[in-house]
Amino acid sequence: MTGLGIPQNTIEVLQRHDFHIQKRYGQNFLVDAHVLQKIVDASLVTKEDCVLEIGPGLGAMTQYLAERAGSVVAVEIDRNLMPILQETLSGYDNVALVNADILKVDLDRLAEEKNGGRPFRVVANLPYYITTPIIMGLLEGHAPVKSITVMVQKEVAQRMQMGPGGKEYGALSLAVQYYAKPKLVADVPPNCFIPRPGVGSAVIHLDCYQEPPVAVEDEKRLFAVIRAAFNQRRKTLANALGNAPGLSVTREQTAEALVRMGLSPTVRGEALSLEQFAALCRELP
Ligand code: SAM
Repeated sequence: MTGLGIPQNTIEVLQRHDFHIQKRYGQNFLVDAHVLQKIVDASLVTKEDCVLEIGPGLGAMTQYLAERAGSVVAVEIDRNLMPILQETLSGYDNVALVNADILKVDLDRLAEEKNGGRPFRVVANLPYYITTPIIMGLLEGHAPVKSITVMVQKEVAQRMQMGPGGKEYGALSLAVQYYAKPKLVADVPPNCFIPRPGVGSAVIHLDCYQEPPVAVEDEKRLFAVIRAAFNQRRKTLANALGNAPGLSVTREQTAEALVRMGLSPTVRGEALSLEQFAALCRELP
């Protein structure tokens, strides 16, 4: 490996290619070999796996992944990074580069083309401006993915793994926990990146379920109820759902359903677990 994961080598590559870092693409390059190793270890990638890397940047993590995985598909939006990636990854014949916006890629087709239709392991130091759309797109879109190991903003990592009651608990926590088992891997300080982000970061591993942990008839309705509950999180759940356009339940119907579940009719959404939201969906007319 050329060892991009140290500051001097990254600066050398940036200067030699006269590359201008694009803030609008959330470019914060990892320059800490210890953190790179930790991410790749947490991803559980083996030679049996095809990795989907989102945003390879200069290729620092791609090099580690190429050593560990059977193959890597790296999707990068910035066309100007392509010649750099071709150079930094020239020593690997198991890496395919795709110049595209990950939010527009047909992942079923990509898995078909690159991995015989089998699911990817996703590994990424994500661009923070689109963390939630990327994660929710993978999960809600039922993308062919068996695990997701990603660097995200520390606060987002906390929200993903939070249980009922905490102030970080919300729609993202419930959505992530419906599809996957989250595990916080490590906190990562800003000095591990060039340039340094203005926020703390953390690595989180999501082990995707084959079957969701709770049974609901209509997944869309479950998430409509959850969104309505947290859109007005200061209100009681009965008021929040009763006011929500499109849900077609009244405040009274919600309060009655809560009482049948053994809960207070004035409970707030932030007190309910995923199991209780699923039960509420079954109780509501
Ligand atoms: N993986 C590299 C590293 O760890 O040093 C770079 C990580 S940097 C935080 C995020 C990367 O995602 C950048 O290379 C950026 O250009 C790329 N990116 C941003 N938006 C993207 C999108 N919509 N689709 C694919 N890549 C994107």
